[in-house]
Amino acid sequence: MGFAIIYNKEMQSEWICSSKRVGSLESREIHSKINPDDYILRIHSQEYYQKVRSTPFFKPAYESVKCILASADEVERYETVIVPTSGTGHQAEKDRWRGYSFFNDLAILVERLKDKGYRSISIIETDAHHSDTYKLCKAKLFCISGTEKCRIIEEMRCRVSREADKDEYLGRFSEIVKAVKAENPEIVIWYLGQDLHEREYSEGHLDGESFRKMIEQFMSIPARKIVILASGSRDDVFRGIISAFRGDF
Ligand SMILES: [Zn+2]
Ligand SMILES: [Zn+2]
Repeated sequence: MGFAIIYNKEMQSEWICSSKRVGSLESREIHSKINPDDYILRIHSQEYYQKVRSTPFFKPAYESVKCILASADEVERYETVIVPTSGTGHQAEKDRWRGYSFFNDLAILVERLKDKGYRSISIIETDAHHSDTYKLCKAKLFCISGTEKCRIIEEMRCRVSREADKDEYLGRFSEIVKAVKAENPEIVIWYLGQDLHEREYSEGHLDGESFRKMIEQFMSIPARKIVILASGSRDDVFRGIISAFRGDF
């Protein structure tokens, strides 16, 4: 079964630092007949969509949505599908963007998976930021700071992610994995913020080894897996995470 990384070189933008991460990967083509607009407009208003269109962020964000939509098909071929997103993210609301989240990739992915007939979908959210995505989609959401929705919020920054030491964080993550296993979903989506890494910009305390441990636990969930590899800016951190998924340490 193995795993696949879905990306598009068009996602690269001088405006978004996380978009450069895909630069060193090899390419392979995927064709899709799905119209991204149909899905974007289920989550966002027409007026907002037009507003994003007029920004330089539209192109990378639009390509990122295409990759997210493709992941719902590719997950039928591979056990794990990873999408390093750019310009899309869990923080985008119906009518507003936050940070570099212009379209809500998480909510769009859930819509697509539901159209494909999946009924039980769990989301694990670990990022240095929180989101209101639980308001936009119906899926079981597990956040590092509590189940169902993001709690312990301070200006949408995740206090737990920024303050917990490695052991506490990993302990909380194991609890989430246990809870997801108890749900026994057909698909689990992991919104994995690269910004949790200690070398990134969010004062996180997780090192490469902590990521490896979380990935190992995540991989033990008996469901199809889609990883939205969000935020972050560093290529070395990105490569470390990808090799942990590959299983070469
Ligand atoms: Zn973040
Ligand atoms: Zn959260």
